Amino acid sequence: MTGCQRLAKSRESSYLKIMSHSCEHIHDHDHDLKPDARVSRLEAAQLLCAEAGERMTSSRLRTYELILEANGPIKAYDVIDRFHPEGAAKPPTVYRALSFLEQMGLIHRIESLNAFVACDTHDHKHTAGFLLCECCGQSEEIAIPNVADIETRAAKTGFKVNHITLEARGLCQACQTDH
Ligand SMILES: [Zn+2]
Ligand SMILES: [Zn+2]
Ligand SMILES: [Zn+2]
Repeated sequence: MTGCQRLAKSRESSYLKIMSHSCEHIHDHDHDLKPDARVSRLEAAQLLCAEAGERMTSSRLRTYELILEANGPIKAYDVIDRFHPEGAAKPPTVYRALSFLEQMGLIHRIESLNAFVACDTHDHKHTAGFLLCECCGQSEEIAIPNVADIETRAAKTGFKVNHITLEARGLCQACQTDH
């Protein structure tokens, strides 16, 4: 059992204390992007938009930044609230930005939570599945297996798939341990 090692390692990471969905469990994996990683994700997003001939406006960028900063799924109204240091944003500004970022594949919407997360991969425009922890509220992105298979089976019935949702609920590894 590596419990002791895990505990020792976790004590170093103070980010746990500021996690929005913090529970009493000890999480040793780091969902919180380091500032450097955040900057490079923002730069990569700007590049992606430029290549697609889209404009990464300041409100789109700020929305994406807030989603990167969140330690897990974040709701639209939290993005609106945190938008300006001095106060909330106009809701339509944020809703438009969210829909743009989703179209660009930079973020995903977790339907059952009505919340948003930054996409984990650089392979944009994909169908993502999510493992949702019912204890700490964290989400983990996973690839949906056999998307083509689902589409083929649907096509046999004359159905055209627009969107596939896969959201599995349960407990992350850390939350399976008792205290
Ligand atoms: Zn993704
Ligand atoms: Zn958990
Ligand atoms: Zn937990």
